[in-house]
Amino acid sequence: MAEREPVLVCTAWPYANGSLHVGHLAGVYVPADVFARYQRLRGHDVLMISGTDAHGTPVTVRADQEGTTPAEVAARYHAEFLTYWRDLGISYDLYTTTTTDNHREVVQDEFMMLLDKGFLYKDRSVGFFDTIAQRFLPDTYIEGECPHCHYARARGNQCENCGRLLEPEDLILPHSRLNPTATLERRETEHFYLDLPKLEKPLLDWARPMTHWRPNVYRFTINFLEGGLQPRAITRDLTWGVPLPPEVGPGWDDKRIYVWFEACSGYLTAAIEWAKLAGQPSAWERFWKDRTCRQYYFIGKDNIPFHTVIWPAILLGRGDVILPYDVPANEYMNMGGQKASKSAGVGTTVPALLSAFDPDAIRYYLIANAPETADTDYSEDDFIRRNNDELVATWGNLVHRTLSFLQRSFEGAVPDHVTDPEVAERIASARAAVEQQLDHVHLRAGLREALNLARFGNEWFDRQAPWRQVREDRAAANHTMGSLLDLINAAKVLFAPFLPHTSAALHGLLGYADPLEEIGWQFETLPGGRQLPPPKPLFRKLEVPAAEAA
Ligand SMILES: [Zn+2]
Repeated sequence: MAEREPVLVCTAWPYANGSLHVGHLAGVYVPADVFARYQRLRGHDVLMISGTDAHGTPVTVRADQEGTTPAEVAARYHAEFLTYWRDLGISYDLYTTTTTDNHREVVQDEFMMLLDKGFLYKDRSVGFFDTIAQRFLPDTYIEGECPHCHYARARGNQCENCGRLLEPEDLILPHSRLNPTATLERRETEHFYLDLPKLEKPLLDWARPMTHWRPNVYRFTINFLEGGLQPRAITRDLTWGVPLPPEVGPGWDDKRIYVWFEACSGYLTAAIEWAKLAGQPSAWERFWKDRTCRQYYFIGKDNIPFHTVIWPAILLGRGDVILPYDVPANEYMNMGGQKASKSAGVGTTVPALLSAFDPDAIRYYLIANAPETADTDYSEDDFIRRNNDELVATWGNLVHRTLSFLQRSFEGAVPDHVTDPEVAERIASARAAVEQQLDHVHLRAGLREALNLARFGNEWFDRQAPWRQVREDRAAANHTMGSLLDLINAAKVLFAPFLPHTSAALHGLLGYADPLEEIGWQFETLPGGRQLPPPKPLFRKLEVPAAEAA
C-alpha cells in the first residue's frame, strides 16, 4: 500500500439561519463525506472538518425577524446541523462553530499577521446608513439590481445569479432588506481593507498550473484573476461577530471582522481546535504545513471566488501555510427547475428528507444524480425510481438472492473455492475504474462503476444458475456460490464510501468481526467453511405515491 498521505477535507460552513435543504447535501456534504471515507479506506491520514457559520448577517436577519438574539438562532441551528451529520453518517473529525474562543484567537492572530506584513490598511469609505434602524447596514442587508446581469435581488456583497462579487454601491437602486421603505443615507465610515491587488500576481502564479481543477472552477478563477483584483473591506459596522484584535487600538468596538474573512479562516481554526482536543496541539501542522498534504474544499458554485481567490490570498499573505489543492465545486441541485434557496424557502429540507428515507438511500440518490458538471433536478419520483430500480433491484437483489440461496442450500457455510477467473477479472477492473474516478473526485461515475459490478453479478448468477447446479453438479455450485460471495465482498468495499451503513451491515453478514474501516480497501476471498448469519435485506423498496401509480 502507498504511504499514508495527509488529506484535508473541508466543507463550506453553513449559515445558522435555517434548516439546510437537499441541494446543500447534494452539492457539498454528501460528496465531501464520500471522498473522505474513500481516502480513509485507502489508508490515508484524513482530517475532515467544518463548522457552523454563526456570524453571517443571514443569522442576524433571522434573529431580527424572530425578535431573538443571533446567539440563540446560531445555537439552535448548529444543534440541528449536528443531527444531520449523525443521521446521514457525515464523518467529520470535528464539526465546530465560529463562536469558540479558539476561533476568535486564531482569526485575530491572522488579522495581525496580515497587518504586520502590510496586506491590510485602513481607509475611509461611504457606508449605507439605515435611518430607521439608526445603523450602518452590512452588505448582505442591502439588495438591488445587479449591474452585470440585472438580476433584481442581488445582495450588496455578491450576485447569486451571475456569481460576481459586488460592493453595495455597485447595486442599481439599493434598498434595505429590513426596512424596504427606509431611506438609505451614504455616511462616511472607517474600515480595514485587504490589499488584494498586491496578491494578484502570486495568486495567478499559483492558480495557472491547477489544470486538474474542474473546468468551470478553473475558468472562473483564471478569468476572475485576469480581470484584476480590487481591495476588499474586511471589517464591518456590526456588533455580532469576531471583534478586532485589541492591538489595533480604540475606536473599533462597534465594528467586527467581516464574516467572509473569518469564516474562511475557520478551515484553519477548526484544524487547530481538533489538534487541541486530541491532546496533540501541533497535530494540525500535518494538514497545514506539510507540502505533501492535499487540501480539498467541497463547496457550491456560488462559493468559488472565496475558495480559489480570497482564501488563497489570505493564506499567501500569511506565508506560513499551504494552499488548497482542489476545489471540487458543484453546480446546483434544483427543485422542479427552480434554484433551491434557504431564504426563499424553496427546497426539500434535510429533516423532511431524513424522516422519509434511509440514510444510504439518500446518499445513493444524491450521488447518482450529483450536480457535478451541470445543474440537476431533485424529484421524489426520480428518487423512488432510482432507489427501486438501481439500489434495490440491482445491488440489494444480488446480495439478498446470494445470501438467501447460501442459507437454503449450503446451510450458510461458505464453500471451499477458488474465485472464478471471469469474476476475478471483473472485480479487478471495477476496482481500477472506481479508484480512477474517485481519485479525481468524479463521484457519480465512481458509483456507476460499482453498480456495474453488481449488475454483472446478477447476470453471472443467472448464467450459472446455481439452483440447477446444486442438484446436478455440487462442485460447480460450490464454485459459483464462492465466486459470487467474493464478488459481493468486493462490491461491499467499492460501495462503502457511498453507502457506509449498508456496507457495514453487509460486512457483518459476510461473517467479519472487525469493522470494515479497519480492514480498509482490501479485496479478499472469503475463506471456505466460514459460517454466515441469516441474511436481512439491506434496502427498502419504496412505494410509488398512489397518484403516479395509476
Ligand atoms: Zn449578476
